[in-house]
Amino acid sequence: AQINGNLTNLINSRLPKKVQGLLLLIGQKAQKEGYKAYAIGGFVRDLLLGVENLDIDIVVEENAISFAEKLVKYIGGNLKTYPNFGTATLTLKDGSKIDFATARMEFYPFPAALPEVEETTIKHDLYRRDFTINTLGFKLNSPVFGDFLDFFNGKKDLEDGIIRVLYNLSFVEDPTRILRAIRFEARYGFKIEEQTLAFMENAINNNMLEEVKVGRMADELKLMLSEKTGLTSFKRAMDLGIIDKIFGEIEDKDRLLKEMETVNNLMEICQVKGISIDEPFLVYLRVILSHCREHIRIKFLKGMNLEKNLYDDLMYFFEEYKGALEKLRNPKFYSPSELVEILGDFSHDSLIPLTAISGSNLVKRRVFLYLEELSKVSIETKGEDLLELGFKPGPIFSEIMENLRKEKLDGNISNKEEEIIWVKSHYLPKLKDGVMTDERY
Ligand code: ATP
Repeated sequence: AQINGNLTNLINSRLPKKVQGLLLLIGQKAQKEGYKAYAIGGFVRDLLLGVENLDIDIVVEENAISFAEKLVKYIGGNLKTYPNFGTATLTLKDGSKIDFATARMEFYPFPAALPEVEETTIKHDLYRRDFTINTLGFKLNSPVFGDFLDFFNGKKDLEDGIIRVLYNLSFVEDPTRILRAIRFEARYGFKIEEQTLAFMENAINNNMLEEVKVGRMADELKLMLSEKTGLTSFKRAMDLGIIDKIFGEIEDKDRLLKEMETVNNLMEICQVKGISIDEPFLVYLRVILSHCREHIRIKFLKGMNLEKNLYDDLMYFFEEYKGALEKLRNPKFYSPSELVEILGDFSHDSLIPLTAISGSNLVKRRVFLYLEELSKVSIETKGEDLLELGFKPGPIFSEIMENLRKEKLDGNISNKEEEIIWVKSHYLPKLKDGVMTDERY
């Protein structure tokens, strides 16, 4: 059956009142203005599963942009349209977002065996999606609100816990679906259906992943590693040969997996201790890329189109981490200022992979000493204090500040008064007319 009952009871019992009202309003407006609107995709999948998901995806016949423009006048909010894609995103006053897409039927003709039905357009739109569990939908138009759409037995697969593609060439058509399949498999504890797995392995072995632009690949990897079950998926991707296809043959797979797990644990520790991490995905990626050949690493990093400072931070990591590890693994004593000298130019996001790669408790202790204590040590002396002492602004300012910080780190001075005394005794004797007389200056 294509239409399989009505979901109104489920909608009323599982969705917040606000969302219910919103869906009804959208359906009324669609009906009044002569559009057909459907809630589809992950939102409907998770509604049936009883999993919270308030990212509402709506497909509109015939034109999502013109409908959304009418809707925004009616219910308010901020609309951004993407005419090239026939899509629009509505951001409501409470910050929640609704995505609108125009129903598309141009791409994949059905196999002849599938009977044509009334809902041809929406059916075609749903057919080009990734997995049966993501093809579920319901009608929003007021007279038929809640009518369930299940053209491809998605509900059955959802109940059986099965990830299944809609057609044989699905993974060839869009190889990022390979990563999506293992992401959903781990997230819901589902199984990739046997035939689907065979299609997938075929696409992997035929080097389809190499066809994907780095940027899209990185986006999917990021989605994968942002899941609670990200590492389960990563291991599965490794076992299926996916990681080798994306990053080139990884020699020591067990070590990479172990390092990824360590990164996961270290980031949890950081969270508990209030140490900030900017981008967890890039923390994992540093570890993965440390197992790659240099040309692949550079290609991947360039392909991601990162902001310059982020790119530079990653490059700094790959240039410097081995040298830093060599020093940090050395059991000799380092003063706090020496540790800061070694670690101070690495970002937090780089220190986590550095620690994971080291596999060493000594390194871990040293990095966390730096993260929790040493990196927070600062001095109280300001530029104006140096002016007052008679220094003229110049490179000497940062030199003094840096040396003051070293003294403070090593416990030789502890307050502003002592800082000023230290500056006076180390620098003032060489000062003449505001300038250092020493030939170095
Ligand atoms: P999540 O819960 O991770 O947000 P989602 O299913 O909502 O999952 P999105 O990435 O937001 O996933 O995509 C919305 C819908 O668009 C999906 O339900 C799926 O039907 C479809 N879709 C997304 N990416 C693809 C793809 N690569 N190929 C086919 N369909 C896709």
